[in-house]
Amino acid sequence: MSDRNIFEVLENSSQTVIMNALGVNDSCPSCKTKFSEKCAISLRRGDRIRCQHCSWVGTWRSDTMLKGSHLSSSQFLFLLVLLKHGVDVIRVANFLGVDSATVRSMQKKIESADRLVTI
Ligand SMILES: [Zn+2]
Repeated sequence: MSDRNIFEVLENSSQTVIMNALGVNDSCPSCKTKFSEKCAISLRRGDRIRCQHCSWVGTWRSDTMLKGSHLSSSQFLFLLVLLKHGVDVIRVANFLGVDSATVRSMQKKIESADRLVTI
């Protein structure tokens, strides 16, 4: 398996875990109507989609704490796990290759989240 495949597998499996943890499913976050299979596939691929029912437009990240974040799914998963295990913010930031302010900001969002299930 090439390095590229390893990272692709890691990213795809992380995305599934993160989507579940953030309560993202195949339904519109606005009107709760179930997306068509085609739209659900596009959503999971990371595409911006439009709800046929209420015209909501967004990606799977849009209505989650990852909105506007540049963290990949695997970075976010590592961040969750490392913080949960008490690793300090600076070490998490160094491990992920991001600014400590990014980790602190996400830590606050995680602490105040009500729909993030335990991983
Ligand atoms: Zn909708």
